[in-house]
Amino acid sequence: MDSNPLSPLFAPLTSLRGIGPAVAKLIARAAGGGNGGGRIIDLLFHMPESYLDRSARPTIRDARAGTVATLAVEVVRHERPAHSRQPWRIVVRDATGTAELVFFRFTREAQMPPGAQLLVSGKIEMFNGKVTIAHPEHLVSAAEASRVPAIEPVWPLTAGLWPRQVAAGIAQGMERLVDLPEWHDPVLMRREKWPSFREALRAVQMPETAAPHKRMRARLAYDEFLAGQVALALVRGRVRARIGRALTGGTELRATALERFGFTPTASQIKVLAEIDADLCSDRRMLRLLQGDVGSGKTLVAALAMLRAVESGAQAALMAPTEVLAKQHHRTLSRILPVPVALLTGSVKGRERSKLLRALKDGSLPMIVGTHALFQEAVEYKDLGLAVIDEQHRFGVTQRLLMGAKGQHTDVLVMTATPIPRTLVLTQWGEMDVSRLTEKPAGRQPIRTTLHSFATMPDVLEGVARKLDEGAQVYWVCPLVAESELIDLAAAEERVTELRMRFGDRVGIVHGQQSPEVRDAALAAFAAGTIRLLVATTVIEVGVDVTRASVMVIEHAERFGLAQLHQLRGRVGRGADASFCLLLHEDWVNETARRRLTLLRDTDDGFLIADEDFRLRGGGDVLGTRQAGAPGFRLADPVEHEGLLEMAHRDAAVLLLRDPGLTSDRGRAIRWLLRLFERTEAMKTLASG
Ligand code: ADP
Ligand code: MG
Repeated sequence: MDSNPLSPLFAPLTSLRGIGPAVAKLIARAAGGGNGGGRIIDLLFHMPESYLDRSARPTIRDARAGTVATLAVEVVRHERPAHSRQPWRIVVRDATGTAELVFFRFTREAQMPPGAQLLVSGKIEMFNGKVTIAHPEHLVSAAEASRVPAIEPVWPLTAGLWPRQVAAGIAQGMERLVDLPEWHDPVLMRREKWPSFREALRAVQMPETAAPHKRMRARLAYDEFLAGQVALALVRGRVRARIGRALTGGTELRATALERFGFTPTASQIKVLAEIDADLCSDRRMLRLLQGDVGSGKTLVAALAMLRAVESGAQAALMAPTEVLAKQHHRTLSRILPVPVALLTGSVKGRERSKLLRALKDGSLPMIVGTHALFQEAVEYKDLGLAVIDEQHRFGVTQRLLMGAKGQHTDVLVMTATPIPRTLVLTQWGEMDVSRLTEKPAGRQPIRTTLHSFATMPDVLEGVARKLDEGAQVYWVCPLVAESELIDLAAAEERVTELRMRFGDRVGIVHGQQSPEVRDAALAAFAAGTIRLLVATTVIEVGVDVTRASVMVIEHAERFGLAQLHQLRGRVGRGADASFCLLLHEDWVNETARRRLTLLRDTDDGFLIADEDFRLRGGGDVLGTRQAGAPGFRLADPVEHEGLLEMAHRDAAVLLLRDPGLTSDRGRAIRWLLRLFERTEAMKTLASG
């Protein structure tokens, strides 16, 4: 029925023998993956974090405590527990001595009668002077010795999920992986001594005798990088292929806007705007990344750039990742810009929506702000000259480039507060021009950041009370990280109850489960100052701008990524008041967590923080992809495989130069690679030319 040899890999995990919905859910939780996970491919791409060597086969006498070993033994007798809280003890022996197997839950009585010959594998401990293995991970009859693997991958698991379930799923999944045509250059394959994709994956997931060579992982990493680089190059090629158009309008409206804005732009804003203007004026299409730390004033730059497009007779659109943020941008732009600005989000419906869409299509509406609703198919522009995309790490690479495909000559400006480490710029942005806002508006005071363990909560509350009395406003952030959003929410609501007991009805809450109306009402009350202390789950993460808020308390700071904490912290320190950020952490946090938090306390340099975060936790967190649910790297380790990324970038460029339509043998093999890594969005650009 389906001739695509890859489709069996994209079937749900539950289509495997022995994997029901419950186990599939656990695997999905541990393995993650595209499309919400839960498919066979997601399990196959769930990389081991290390390997356990079970090849040591000592005698009982030579077994050393603390090591993992496999013992060949004979069952001597069972010592049943005297009461239910005691374990079962099974005494076993070999020619050199006796040992004990200990079970707190024992269900295998029939399998191991006295006299049975067994192979048991697990961690050796000494207990009362006896060699002991508690709950051996493998226990088979001597006749089935081959069922104890000599080398065993250690996968990241989740509570309730067992390694053997993962191993069994992977073994079945691998059977569904057919040999695919080789997509790498033969010269490269020889030089790197790489096996085929299938062999490499098998070696990593089902090693037979020894831990797989790093070469195997490198091949898989390169596969993943190359898929990404080719996809990016294809989409970018389509956007770049359209020539731009010179937007050379006047600057009268700008002068009015600056007057309304009321502040002088910083030198950095002026410089960046000049770079953008040069792009807008040229007939080359703009593809520019604007990096600027939180609070550096990106919105003004965007507003003035958009104004220029409008003054040149074209339309301009600003896309934000959340409704809250879209509304805030809409308010800001409406205040400072002397042209009408419309708002389009998912909650604009019915007659209002169709009226708005008509006005965009006939060109009577020059400027619009919205969420991703802006680039859905039904939305047509008469002449979109400039698309600005804010905080775009929340959007997929393709999404953001497709926004640029909305118009014949649309220039694209992407704004991010996340200082992206050098290594990631390539994968996420490819060849974009980069502008940087390097200074913050004058009059800002640095944010004083301090660390507090939960044990000192009374002092923290005392400090918050003092600041509230002085007229400050306070954000109180609770993390949303537990497996159940409801549990997190319960914790946040409990906190609100406590804070209300102390601070009364000055306390409000915003979270992701509220209806947009309720949430906006709370944010508005905070902006107006009727709510003085706002408890928030991470919905306030991006962009909310309340200048009087000068204190932020972040609970369980150890659970956030550093870059994310830095972004959150940027919500305060926007006015002239001295600002404070209090990071509350668990009493017991480990050394790494303490180092991370200390770094955040001691520096305000977003770039330094991002690099450090990247080093300590890998790329996914820096980009906030984990929170956004977008797939980050699964096979590649962006730190270990950094060099391969550059290589893949060049490889993709040369490939597409020689074979832009992917029609050569290698090109057709590359199409399989793109399907395997779900980069099919990019392939559509081939079909449509
Ligand atoms: P971000 O780069 O984080 O998006 P915003 O654009 O939200 O920063 O700006 C942060 C705050 O700084 C806003 O309150 C904005 O009005 C203010 N601001 C921006 N530029 C200037 C300036 N040149 N002088 C004074 N305040 C400014
Ligand atoms: Mg912003």
